[in-house]
Amino acid sequence: MKTILVDPDRCMQCCNCQNACKDEHCDNDWSPIALPQGRHQFWIQVREQEVGQGTRMKLNRVPVLCQQCADAPCMKVAGEAMYRREEGYVLIDPAKAKGLKKLVDACPYGVIYYNDELDMPQKCTMCAHLLDMGWDRPRCVAACPADALSYVDVDELTWDNMYAPLERLNPEFGTNPQVAYVNLPKPFIAGAVYDPKGDRCLEGVKVKATHMVTGKSWKTRSDNYGEFRLRRLDPGYYTVAFDLCGYSYKEISKVDARRCPDLEDIQLYPKAE
Ligand code: SF4
Ligand code: SF4
Ligand code: SF4
Repeated sequence: MKTILVDPDRCMQCCNCQNACKDEHCDNDWSPIALPQGRHQFWIQVREQEVGQGTRMKLNRVPVLCQQCADAPCMKVAGEAMYRREEGYVLIDPAKAKGLKKLVDACPYGVIYYNDELDMPQKCTMCAHLLDMGWDRPRCVAACPADALSYVDVDELTWDNMYAPLERLNPEFGTNPQVAYVNLPKPFIAGAVYDPKGDRCLEGVKVKATHMVTGKSWKTRSDNYGEFRLRRLDPGYYTVAFDLCGYSYKEISKVDARRCPDLEDIQLYPKAE
């Protein structure tokens, strides 16, 4: 089976993939694979999320399309209105899907849309009509100028072939997605340490974040502006410790790395003489 490999690190948000999908599917009837795509749909979409704030803000971009789940919850709801092709792709059958609005909520990835004009749900088809015509990859992959999307054999997705660890989008949904990712955005914790008495930024502070469940820890030191950033953390809550010779030790607990990663300005006080 071939699948799409997505690398958000390479994505420039040029939207070529979105436009190519629209060009291929809007106003085009590719029956029996799909009817024309509804105007307000994005079968592939670069989703943005701002995390943190100010100079410590990070903009995450992740291209998202149907994940071609092996345990697809949409198929359980759809009955005969969805089917799996021989090579493994999950498709909505436009001849049997009329009125099936409940399919939209059956997908935890939010990639099924409802076409009110046609009165039916629609989603990415993996460009199965093009593959059937002999194309070697879907339109969105062909349109990506940055190699953020590639069409690869699942057997090639091995440890030896990959330039970064292989990941899945939201594995917690439990749908066994077949679309693969590398370099998905990871949580971080950032801030700046200063001495309010001496009114100065503190350089060289040892900063250590310890995951409150697994005990795994990440370390760094503050720079000459007192700034620090602990990158590529696991999701979850952390205890963050600050240690500098001559200053009182400080700990902050229950820091949620995914939602509130910016600790802002942290005060460290000199130890009493
Ligand atoms: S991503 Fe959604 S629509 Fe696609 S197979 Fe999985 S559950 Fe179904
Ligand atoms: S594979 Fe085809 S249908 Fe799916 S998002 Fe890409 S261009 Fe659109
Ligand atoms: S075409 Fe490629 S680089 Fe451009 S937005 Fe889509 S995935 Fe990102």
